[in-house]
Amino acid sequence: MKQVFGVFGDPISHSLSPAMHNAAFSALGMDCIYHAFRVKPEKLEKAILGAEAMGFGGLNLTVPLKEVALKLSCIKPDPLAKKIGAVNTIVFEETGEIRGYNTDGLGAKQALQEAAVEIKGSKIVVAGAGGAARAINFQLAADGADITIVNRTEERAIALAKDISAAALPGKVEGRGLSELKDLLQNANVLINTTTLGMHPNIDSTIATADNLHSGLTVFDIVYNPLETRLLREAKASGAKTVSGVSMLVYQGAEAFRLWTGIDPPVELMKKTVLEALKA
Ligand code: NAP
Repeated sequence: MKQVFGVFGDPISHSLSPAMHNAAFSALGMDCIYHAFRVKPEKLEKAILGAEAMGFGGLNLTVPLKEVALKLSCIKPDPLAKKIGAVNTIVFEETGEIRGYNTDGLGAKQALQEAAVEIKGSKIVVAGAGGAARAINFQLAADGADITIVNRTEERAIALAKDISAAALPGKVEGRGLSELKDLLQNANVLINTTTLGMHPNIDSTIATADNLHSGLTVFDIVYNPLETRLLREAKASGAKTVSGVSMLVYQGAEAFRLWTGIDPPVELMKKTVLEALKA
């Protein structure tokens, strides 16, 4: 009988995870199927326990469930997910334990490494202080980056920087207002956009234009819809190197796949499948 995996969220109909994981299961000849399920926050605990009772192989959680999951007594979060305050991957252990992980930060790290960015000691400016920024900043601070978080709501950037500093990780982190972005970019190696600017349908908005960027920068936009955001076009015009949000999406999914199965998934095929789905 096929083993079932799934992603829970609300809304969920546009999730790319089923296509990405089903392509991997099929290529590996695994008798598994991955499906998207619409689950409301107040039903999350019942849905997770139901999936466990039915022998699901594993789960992903997406908006608005990642933070809710951490409050559920049935889930044992790993230390990183606990620090981040959000769970995006659930593993059903043979012992009956339900473990919660967060693979978003690792996905971002691997996307940067694929672009040959040396994270340790890099001067990284992260625009945004929301859920995705939290996961990315904890990971990059753990890897020794020198990070400045800039956010429209400056207090949120300062609060996030304080949380990360309290974790005594090797990297340095500070929080500033978005108005300082232009100056900060002059001495930065990497810009990461974690704001929703540029995301469909607001595709003309951008956190920075070509005149604020330079050829010494790697510009990573975690927004992946549209595939090429305005920020990535501006970055190319300035001579900066670019990294697309699709890489992070695929690497966070690949890490979840490893946690569920212990098997290395075919990352290139997963990326190709996501790109085709986005183009369609
Ligand atoms: P979120 O928690 O809602 O955070 C949104 C962030 O965007 C906040 O920092 C917010 O600033 C900022 N923002 C919103 N509108 C803005 C504006 N007009 N000007 C300046 N800043 C603005 O969202 P999230 O969950 O972190 O997701 C952010 C984006 O990342 C989404 O597009 C999502 O699809 C994408 N994402 C991609 C991946 C991937 O794998 N590639 C993974 C996760 C998320 P304030 O604090 O001032 O409101």
